Amino acid sequence: MLEIKDLTFRYSKRAPLVLDKISLTLNNGEIGVVLGKNGSGKTTLFKNILGIEKPDSGSITYDGKDLLKLSRGARAAYIAYVPQDIQFGDLTVFDTVLMGRMPYFGLKAGKEDETITLNILEDMGLSELVSRNANELSGGERQKIAIARALVQEPKLLVFDEPTGNLDIANEQLILKEAKRVAKEKGIGILTSLHDLNQALDLGTKFFFIKNGKIEYQGGPETVTETVIKEIFNADVEIIEHDNRRIIITR
Ligand code: ADP
Repeated sequence: MLEIKDLTFRYSKRAPLVLDKISLTLNNGEIGVVLGKNGSGKTTLFKNILGIEKPDSGSITYDGKDLLKLSRGARAAYIAYVPQDIQFGDLTVFDTVLMGRMPYFGLKAGKEDETITLNILEDMGLSELVSRNANELSGGERQKIAIARALVQEPKLLVFDEPTGNLDIANEQLILKEAKRVAKEKGIGILTSLHDLNQALDLGTKFFFIKNGKIEYQGGPETVTETVIKEIFNADVEIIEHDNRRIIITR
């Protein structure tokens, strides 16, 4: 379980607080969606969890292990990151995904690293692409490769920044489906941010509403209400039921 307690952060001494006593928990296999306006602190929260930024105070643990005290390599066994803008080197799909094993192999990949890479590629239906140049593939395929590269790291938690940001609707569905599969079959926790509230409702099992660096609400789908959306985003919406699903429409 990911557990964050009283996490406080500012970018520099005199700068305003960006994260204000953030506390949250996310169980293994849960998909947590962080929701909040632009500039509310979502990316900064992820950067702190990933160790890109260091909190001023508070703690971040996974299954009781203090993530703030781990080296980059040791941390990689807990958390993997799927960035929004994926820049791959001029490598094949196989080598690109194999790179995700680097925290384990150091200089040269071994047989085990290659086997894990092949297994994940097969698991994700990417076997046919192994020899292709990763940069020549479509946005959806590249996003899947980024997920594969994160998964070979065998993390307990995946952090996804806006996973569907630049994708068309078919690829969007593909990535949401893949995220659900990873959480369900591998028991990996996923922490993500999404702009589209309907995608959030479709994907998330837990929701964190952040405003001015504070988590104002957290909980299951029942936490997502018209009142909460109004308060957090200052937007007027109506939530309707359709086919046993809740759909958010603008008013
Ligand atoms: P979100 O991801 O919710 O849009 P961010 O975490 O990117 O929000 O930003 C939160 C706040 O931190 C904003 O006020 C933003 O201007 C500020 N901020 C983000 N990155 C930096 C940085 N590198 N240096 C200083 N301030 C930053």
